[in-house]
Amino acid sequence: MNQEHFFQLAASDINCNTSYPLRRKFFARYRTDTDIMENTEALSLYYHIPFCKHLCRFCEYTRFLCGDISQQNDYIDKLIAQSEKFFGSHNIKKLYGLDIGGGTPTSLELPVLNRLLDYHTEIRGKYDLSEGFEPSIEFSFSAIDDDKIRCIAEHNIPRMSTGIQVFDDGLLSKMERLPQALSYMERMTGSIRNAGIKKLNIDLMYGFPDQTDLMLSNSLYAVKVLEPEQVTLYELRYNRNGLDSVSVDRNVLFRQYEFLYNGLTDLGYKGRFGQNTFSKFDDEGVSSYLYSRMFLGRPYKGFGVSAQSMSDKGISYNILKSDNSRYMPDFDEISEEYSYLLPKDEIAAKYICISLYSGRFSLSVLEKILCSDPMSYYHNEFDFLLEHRYVEISNGICTLTKEGFKLYGAVAALFWSPYHREQYIKMKEGKK
Ligand code: SF4
Repeated sequence: MNQEHFFQLAASDINCNTSYPLRRKFFARYRTDTDIMENTEALSLYYHIPFCKHLCRFCEYTRFLCGDISQQNDYIDKLIAQSEKFFGSHNIKKLYGLDIGGGTPTSLELPVLNRLLDYHTEIRGKYDLSEGFEPSIEFSFSAIDDDKIRCIAEHNIPRMSTGIQVFDDGLLSKMERLPQALSYMERMTGSIRNAGIKKLNIDLMYGFPDQTDLMLSNSLYAVKVLEPEQVTLYELRYNRNGLDSVSVDRNVLFRQYEFLYNGLTDLGYKGRFGQNTFSKFDDEGVSSYLYSRMFLGRPYKGFGVSAQSMSDKGISYNILKSDNSRYMPDFDEISEEYSYLLPKDEIAAKYICISLYSGRFSLSVLEKILCSDPMSYYHNEFDFLLEHRYVEISNGICTLTKEGFKLYGAVAALFWSPYHREQYIKMKEGKK
């Protein structure tokens, strides 16, 4: 299949986004027992708290209904044990970032949250921290109060991130998500500022079935009132949630993004068209963990169920990845379940897919991965993309154009490994 045909095939598939691999089985041939983090000395850390007060229908993350305090403590014990085991067996010297996400970390009871953050502080004190190191924690308005905010601030976490997703009670209730009163969110954002936390990020989502412009306007209105320093736009992904995508196609998604982009720009947020993150500052709108992972392609280690880790050798996933149960199953310890030793073309493809989340990728990072000039390595792909003006290249950065962003999943697909492409084509032809 030539470039044009393959590009059109991927462009017509709403499930082609920045996910990579598209199916876990496409990596099966790379399964390994090798430690992919061997010899890694500098990396970012992520701690996954898989508990939520309620489960939203559209959610693609591994999360369970929050259990009682003893279950929470037991989970934190296992999380810390996994982390200690890792640090005890690796020669880590430097951290680029440290995020706590989920799920909803603030659904933990205050003493448990405090324990987790004490451990967070301990880790930060043990290693060199890179310039720009900026830890971050996720929360939800349905699971936050003044005491938890104070606890986060006292542990010197400068950034908090939450999702409003959509500010429309009708759509939220269809998605089985608890609506929050704007007045309560305003009060909590006031507490966050008073506690001295410098950055608040709010996530908004688009691409829901039957999401109207009025609903998008209402989301922008909530942003206007709450005045977060950063805003992240998420396109709803249909890969895992079983929602019906019939009313949504790439043109709808593009138009909704454009609507939100224009609204955020009018509110004073900065961000390139095609970028998902926006900021009132001159930064990328993400924590240092995400920046280091996404754009710089640096190693990251994930602790907790389902968390992902990656190095220049490969990728691994902890237990319970893709577990959709309502309640967390029993397990003895948190460990890696799948590890893959990846060839360079797969690492490069993964890097491009992750980085396209910010609408661009770095050619020098790619050169380091491939050990050769990416413009030669991918000359057919770049010829096609440049000829059709889907990307622009300047100062060593390949950036999506507006037209390219409309079909960003197909742009990403052009950089998939030949093996991944082959498997995908077979899957589409119904052979797999
Ligand atoms: S609160 Fe967030 S993490 Fe939890 S189910 Fe809803 S979207 Fe997913």
